[in-house]
Amino acid sequence: MSPVDTSACVHCGLCLPTCPTYLVTGDESESPRGRVVLLNQLWDAIANGQGLDRDAARAVDSCLDCRACEEVCPGHVPVGHAVEAFRAWAVSSGRRPRPLAARGLARYFGSERGLERFQRLVRWANRPAGRTVIRWSRHFGGTAGAAARLAQGLPAPIGAGLAHTKVHTGGQGPRVALLDGCVMDTVYGDTARHTADLLRLTGHEVVSAPGQVCCGALHTHAGDPGQARQWARQNVWAFSQADVQYVAATAAGCGAALKEYSHLLPEDPEAHAFQAAVRDAAELMDPERIPPLPPRPETVAVHDACHLAHAQGIRQEVRALLARAGYRLVDLPEADVCCGSAGIYNLTHPRMAAALQQRKAASVPLGADVVATSNPGCLLQIQAGLRQAGRPTPAAHWVDLVWQAAAQAGALPAPPVPEASGVEIHGLD
Ligand code: SF4
Ligand code: SF4
Repeated sequence: MSPVDTSACVHCGLCLPTCPTYLVTGDESESPRGRVVLLNQLWDAIANGQGLDRDAARAVDSCLDCRACEEVCPGHVPVGHAVEAFRAWAVSSGRRPRPLAARGLARYFGSERGLERFQRLVRWANRPAGRTVIRWSRHFGGTAGAAARLAQGLPAPIGAGLAHTKVHTGGQGPRVALLDGCVMDTVYGDTARHTADLLRLTGHEVVSAPGQVCCGALHTHAGDPGQARQWARQNVWAFSQADVQYVAATAAGCGAALKEYSHLLPEDPEAHAFQAAVRDAAELMDPERIPPLPPRPETVAVHDACHLAHAQGIRQEVRALLARAGYRLVDLPEADVCCGSAGIYNLTHPRMAAALQQRKAASVPLGADVVATSNPGCLLQIQAGLRQAGRPTPAAHWVDLVWQAAAQAGALPAPPVPEASGVEIHGLD
């Protein structure tokens, strides 16, 4: 019997057209409805001490945990949590090794020194020697080849340092601390600085929350809830010390994970209180608090990160902020279909991830000057996909676009904008 209740499934099939893996394969076993049936069979086999059907286990494991199905499901069947529970059982029972990528990430993301080491690795990947190694290794199979292909989406140059050491604090209004994150902090550190500037512009006091660590989302998705729980406890403690009204996330996956800490730590009342304070940055920023900015020449297509759109129900907030900043918006077909990033899915399931990446890159309208999104994994995946497709279109975090418009119009409040932010949004002035 599944530890996550999926009995509300009435097999209506409403979820099928929303499921990225079903869209790619057309195979019922790779659909949410199919996975619910397979999960029941697998848990029955486990309860009866029988061997597991490997094809069924593989079809369940190919779920992206994107939650698109849950958004349309009339019975609110928690397919994502059901798949996570099966992965956790597979890892803890020794049926499946803990993914190499998850082990590597735990090494880097669990401490400040680890994050600094990770950032040095990312910087090296962006130097000529690193670029040469990446060019050679992108043809490899498995995790190494997938990581090399993904590295093609790295921004150049990488920000000046870990963001949490440089974020401008201060301002007036509700007190907010940013979740620094792991990939966000090391690869897109300037986005955190820009978020702090925009939060102050929209009437918030920004403070830091020392002692925080990675949100644990990647580990939850990869079947390692033990590590995720340990980091969740640490974050609940760190943000309680900062005495804030809100915890702001700029990475959709992190925000969704923080908003589910009560699921990880059901007995901990502080985890419930913490979760209630979490907001995506787009939820906190009222577009009306941004002074009118002149129209921009760029047209922006918005990709809805799964854990923003499906897990948090946030879509229009991002578009409203971009429009307020003066950008023209153009529709992106299948805007909320997963790009294949999905945490470390693009490292553990490179073939399906590549199919979704190509589908996403091909869907970007020719008239779009930039693709905006709100998750570091999506940024890397989409940017790499566009480069592989020979498209010059850049992918950028929406925060960086809004910040750039405000900075160029001189609308940002003191302290002054750093001269060399390190961020370059290719193709934009
Ligand atoms: S998971 Fe939900 S939407 Fe999908 S078949 Fe079951 S009840 Fe219908
Ligand atoms: S979470 Fe995403 S990939 Fe998994 S079954 Fe639901 S829609 Fe499909």
